[in-house]
Amino acid sequence: MEPAPGLLEQPQRTEAGSPQPEPTPWQALPVLSEQQAGDVELVLAYAAPILDKRQTSRLLKEVSALHPLPAQPHLKRVRPSRDASSPHALEMLLCLAGPASGPRSLAELLPRPAVDPRGLGQPFLVPVPARPPLTRSQFEEARAHWPTSFHEDKQVTSALAGRLFSTQERAAMQSHMERAVRAARWAAARGLRAVGAVVVDPASDHVLATAHDCSSTASPLLHAIMVCVDLVAHGQGRGTYDFAPFPACSFAPATVPYGVRAGAVRKLDTDEDGLPYVCTGYDLYVTREPCAMCAMALVHSRILRVFYGAPSPDGALGTRFRIHARPDLNHRFQVFRGVLEEQCLLLDPDT
Ligand SMILES: [Zn+2]
Repeated sequence: MEPAPGLLEQPQRTEAGSPQPEPTPWQALPVLSEQQAGDVELVLAYAAPILDKRQTSRLLKEVSALHPLPAQPHLKRVRPSRDASSPHALEMLLCLAGPASGPRSLAELLPRPAVDPRGLGQPFLVPVPARPPLTRSQFEEARAHWPTSFHEDKQVTSALAGRLFSTQERAAMQSHMERAVRAARWAAARGLRAVGAVVVDPASDHVLATAHDCSSTASPLLHAIMVCVDLVAHGQGRGTYDFAPFPACSFAPATVPYGVRAGAVRKLDTDEDGLPYVCTGYDLYVTREPCAMCAMALVHSRILRVFYGAPSPDGALGTRFRIHARPDLNHRFQVFRGVLEEQCLLLDPDT
């Protein structure tokens, strides 16, 4: 089932020197986990003004020993007073407060002899960030409540700023998504759903499978991604379905990925024949955000990264669910949305 020659190749330009079409701008933005994308969760804590600054280091030691905050290593213990007219310059975080907390005295919060409360004023309640911030925007939000440390993930920051991929990588991404768009158009022209998908080995940029939606009343599960994963398996001498009636669905025989040949480019699960387990180490390009079934198929097939063009109301990689980042599944992968979004939206504007 080799692809018909040139079936999905770029249309050839007929006139020499005709102007290059204006490239449509697009941005591949990461689809983060719920923890990374969510608002900062706050919990109540007790703090107290430091009336005598000379006691600060002693108080810091004693309070930290009595009330360690193992789940809040990001919280700084001392902050400058927020009120410029306040007679004291510093405030100290004492301990977390329960959900139904009311006013407490120093003696209740810091019992002697563990802490000598000399130098501290009347405790007050203050909301503090419950968890370490994971992104710069969470950090900015968290520190507005209480001074917070932040161990920045540079890759996440540059991905959110749209700076993760080089010009060369973007050109390759665009070319793979254009291939998926052509497969989707091929399907649409034959009355099938306009969704296209491509699997690529990112180490070599080699296209391993190209698919479009083949679903029908008789075969409702043959979404483009299910077809594409099965075609990758065909390329490995496996696979289940017969896609002969769909000549735009094609695969290339698998080879041992570059990652294995080069030694240790990345960790790959491989089978006895040295081939990767289905999509281990591979990227998927798909014109539309995958549904829950397809997202789970990508978990099972061990995909490395997914790039999709247009979001979908039932989408399981960002819109309704974030299946790629669930801590309770045994495989997680990176997801980027927005590659050629405009063209992808035009394919299937209702969904
Ligand atoms: Zn699907």
